[in-house]
Order: sequence, then C-alpha cells, then structure tokens
Amino acid sequence: MSYPELHARSLADPDAFWRAEARRIEWHRPFETVCDQSRLPSVRWFVGGETNLCHNAVDRHLASQADQPALIWVSTEVDQEKSFTFGQLHLEVQRMAAIFLAHGVGRGDRVLIYLPMIPEAVFAMLACARIGAIHSVVFGGFASHALASRIDDGAPKLVVSADAGARGGRMIPYKGLLDEAISLARCKPEHVLMVDLGRVPFDPIPGRDLDYATERERVLDAQVPVTWLESNEISYILYTSGTTGKPKGVQRDVGGYAVALAHSMANVFQGEPGQTYFSTSDIGWVVGHSYTVYGPLLAGMATILYEGLPTRPDGAIFWNLVEKYRVSAMFSSPTGIRVLKKQDPDLLKRHDVSSLKGLYLAGEPLDESTSSWISEALGVPIIDNYWQTESGWPILTIARGLDDRPARLGSPGFAMPGFDVRIVDEVTGLEVPAGQKGVVAIVPPLPPGCMQSVWGDEARFLETYYRAIPGREVYSTFDWGIVDEDGYTFILGRTDDVINVAGHRLGTREIEESISSHKAVAECAVVGVADALKGQAAVAVVVLKDSAVLTAEDRARLSAEVMATVDRQLGAIARPAKVYFVGLLPKTRSGKVLRRAILAVCEGRDPGELTTIEDPSALDQLRQLVGTGNA
Ligand code: ATP
Ligand code: MG
Repeated sequence: MSYPELHARSLADPDAFWRAEARRIEWHRPFETVCDQSRLPSVRWFVGGETNLCHNAVDRHLASQADQPALIWVSTEVDQEKSFTFGQLHLEVQRMAAIFLAHGVGRGDRVLIYLPMIPEAVFAMLACARIGAIHSVVFGGFASHALASRIDDGAPKLVVSADAGARGGRMIPYKGLLDEAISLARCKPEHVLMVDLGRVPFDPIPGRDLDYATERERVLDAQVPVTWLESNEISYILYTSGTTGKPKGVQRDVGGYAVALAHSMANVFQGEPGQTYFSTSDIGWVVGHSYTVYGPLLAGMATILYEGLPTRPDGAIFWNLVEKYRVSAMFSSPTGIRVLKKQDPDLLKRHDVSSLKGLYLAGEPLDESTSSWISEALGVPIIDNYWQTESGWPILTIARGLDDRPARLGSPGFAMPGFDVRIVDEVTGLEVPAGQKGVVAIVPPLPPGCMQSVWGDEARFLETYYRAIPGREVYSTFDWGIVDEDGYTFILGRTDDVINVAGHRLGTREIEESISSHKAVAECAVVGVADALKGQAAVAVVVLKDSAVLTAEDRARLSAEVMATVDRQLGAIARPAKVYFVGLLPKTRSGKVLRRAILAVCEGRDPGELTTIEDPSALDQLRQLVGTGNA
C-alpha cells in the first residue's frame, strides 16, 4: 500500500487503523471503544482499556532484556557516566514509587519534577506513571517566578528536586530557586524530595524536605506493582514553551499516548529493541518526554540522557556519544545544530557515526542551509519533523518506515497517520488550493497521543485551539503553511509572525530563510516593527558565524549584502529596513527565538516579563544598537 493510501485509510476508518496499532503495547484489560467521538472536538481513545506507561516502558522488557542497557546517563558537566539495565531501572523505579507512596502520593495526585538531566528524573517520571500519579516536569533552572506559577497551576502534593543543576561548568542552585518559588506560590506542596548531588551545600527545611538517599535506603527491596489505569486517565501535564504568550498546561492521557509513541518509534524512527536512541532534548520539553524517556523505552531501546552542552568539552561531543554507544537514531533541534555551525567543521569528521541511520530535527523551522550543511558533514539523512507540545508526536514528517518518497528541502513532509491536516483560510476555515498560504489546521478527531485538554481549564482548551478560526471548528496549530503540488507541506512561521509592509503581507520566516542563505550568517530573526509610513517594516537581527568585533564599515557592508540577498530572492518589498548584528539571539529555554521580545526592543518598548528566556542579557546588545540607531 502506498503511503497516501495508508494515510487515507487511517482517516477513513480510524477505529480499524488504531485498533491494529494498539497491539504494539500491552493492555491489562482490553478496550471497549477505539475512538469515542461523542464529544467532538474532544476525543477519547481506547475507552475502557487498562494499561500503564511504566509497565510498557520497563516491566514488559524484563523477560527478554533485563540485562540490556535501558538508560545511559552521560554528564559532561560533572564528568560522569552511568548505565542502568532494564532490570536495574525496574528496581530504581520501584524504589522511587515506594517513596512516593510512603508520603501519601497516590493515583491522580500531582508530582512536580524540577531536576537536572540526571537518572533520578527518569526514575521519578516512570514512578509517577507506575502508580498513576500525574507528573509535571518543569525545566530545571527556570527562575522562581516561572516555577511558582507552575506550582500553583498543578498544585502538586510532592516536588522532586536537587541541590543544583549545572550548565557549562557553572552550578545553578535549584534548591534556592525552588524555596523561593514555594514561598511565592499560593499552593504549598507537602514535601520536597531532595536528591543531594553534592554540588552545592543547602539547608533542608525540617518537616518538609526529605532526603532521597535516606528514603531510598529504607525501600531498597520494595516491590511496587503497577497500577492499571484506564486509558483516558491523565499521565502528565506539560507546559508549552511560551514563545507566543502565557504557557498552556498540556494534559495528556495514558493509552493513546503509549500507542502513538509506539507507532512513531516503529514507523518514524525505525527503532528496534536493543538499539540506542539519543535525544538531546531536556526532559522539561515535549521531545524529552516523548523521545528521551517514554518512546525509546517503550520500543525496548536504550536511551541516552545527556547532561551538558553541545559544545563542551568540544563541538564533537554529540558525535563522540554516537560513536561510543552506536546510536542508531538521534533527535535534536535546528538551534542545537546551528550552534555547531560556529565550531570547527573538522569536529564533525572526527568520529565514526556509521551506526546513525537518521538525524531528526524539530522545534523550529529547519532552514535549508543548516539542513544541507549537517547532512553533508555527517553523511546521514536529516529528517525534519513538525509538531507541538500539544500533539505529543510528529504531525508532519516523512515516516521512513512507511513512505519511500524523498525529502524536499525546507519541508517536513506529509501528515502522519490519523492527522487530517488541511491548509485553511484563517477566517473561513475553508481549504485553500495547493500553492496558497493558509493556517495549518487539523480536522478532528485528532489521533491518539494528542492533548486531552488544558489542565484544569477545558474552556481555555476549546477556546484556544478550536475557536481560533471563526468559520470552522478545526484545531489550529497557529502556524502558517503551504502545500506544493506534490503534497509536501512547508511551514511558513507562526500566525503571529506575519507582517504587513505597505499593504503586502510577508512571512518573517521567508525573509529569515533568505538572510540565512548568506554565507556569513549563522542565524537570524526578522520582526515587523511599527512604521508610520508603511504600517510595518521588516527588521533583521543577525548573528554571524564569525563573531569577531565588527567595525562600522563591516556593519555597513554586511548589512548592504544582507539587504541585497533579500532583494534578489524575495524582492525589494521584503528587504529589511534595518539589520542589527548581535552576538546572541534571545531564546526560550527550549531554544526558540523570542521574536516578541525582539520586537518590543526594536520598538523601544519594555519586553515585559520573560519568564522563559534563556539569557536575559541577550537583549542588551540589541537594546544598545537600537538606542544608538546603529544598525
Ligand atoms: P507557545 O505555544 O506557548 O507559544 P511554542 O509554540 O513555542 O510555545 P512548542 O509546543 O514547544 O511551544 O513548539 C511548537 C511550535 O514549534 C510549532 O507550533 C511550530 O511553530 C514550531 N515548530 C516545531 N517543529 C517545527 C518544524 N519542524 N518546522 C517549523 N516549525 C516547527
Ligand atoms: Mg505553540
């Protein structure tokens, strides 16, 4: 069957398609209904079925793989590596679960996990899954304010944390940030389980703080059976990156998620039991949930948990790990790869990466120059995949296990099974013809694995995602897209990233793509700055590959070259009115460019509170340049 036929079948008869896919996981009790569409646009998958994510990720593999590696922890921050077999993982997860139970955490209770990339973070997630507690993983190192709002939103009974995370050799004292967050929060968790990594000294709060090592000692032999959960019970809450506004608490189910991940592990990543998977994503993001923790383990693969930077000890660390652990599939982000572009290109040739069958990139548009650069350097297929925290797994990609069509530069590919993706008019919701730009929308029912609701706010869920396009009740991705005549979908940026220059609507993404093709450019962001004359004017903020100090002449010359590149490729109307050269773009902690902050600074406004920003000083240089009018 060709892929388009298979995809069409998945939409025409979702019950048959997903009934078959559901066999990829183990069910304690079979489901009665595959897809309950009685409350569209909300859907419930595998109603009545009972299963458990931890059982499928760990226990299930004990019979055949107990002595094979499951979790490989590598920290270049503290120079340590540690590996756990499925058997050892099973023990550690039960110990963690026993500690949770001993402190009154049960089914449906929330556990907030605020940890660096250490094995205990994975134990804690799986322990929650095992006993039916709902985890809310918050990116380690988020400042107190961001953490406090997530504590209040989820009202966790227990927080699991550590003394400190580490970044680039610097210790970040999590405990201090957490204590401050708890004092800011209205909801006070009963206990904080502290993993003492010996990184920085801290004072436990008597009665509230528990010491993990002491607690673990007491439950070394614990046997904690899995709690069988109805498929639609909640597995976790995870907040979106907050690139465009207040983060949304994405709530996910159990059974649908397990099936969707198992399906994608087989067909997108072509993972086999015993192989090794390496996702560079932090567990605080959706990629970390789906493809650092659950996906690979569900597939019986070993997963690498990496604590460290892509550039330390040097820019070859990723490829070093690929070689050492014979990684077969690797998942990273365009941002992660662009960082490497600024390093010595020879670093890419130092290691044998022949085990690698594919490098998967998601999270941001993959510009053509980055894509061809890394693909040539590694000699490995680069697979762009488009998705969201909300979807939980890829919406658009080329599923190499099902589809042999070649990739097309700049396009993630085609809709995955079950995703009825349409490019629609932003007002009417009607489909636009091939070659015409519209909003990427999905006609419900959404397939298994997608968000059930916004945690605690069903109204916000329906309002946000299903009422955004006035004419029709479809799920809006809030991204622009276009389909070419062969059905390849291209993502053109976020719906709030379109600018209007003298009556012309321009996607900032297209302008960015054009600027990136200039060989001196490492990365860039384009925003539409208010302009009295034209409505908006495009302004580009550019990071060069070679970040040597620029003279005024250099700036003028490069700026003219960038403008000329855009003129040539898109026309003078898209030409940026100004080009600012900076050392660093402001990004969220997940590596996404904060265009709204750039815009505020370019318009001389206060960018407001940026709770998810990686490095607030990233805006200083731009502020200075804007202030002096020094483009
Ligand atoms: P918020 O919704 O809070 O503003 P966010 O959208 O950045 O935050 P995520 O769910 O982490 O939060 O990101 C999903 C978005 O990332 C997509 O909607 C899209 O804009 C972008 N994206 C992800 N993958 C790709 C890709 N392969 N190509 C282009 N854009 C992508
Ligand atoms: Mg979003």
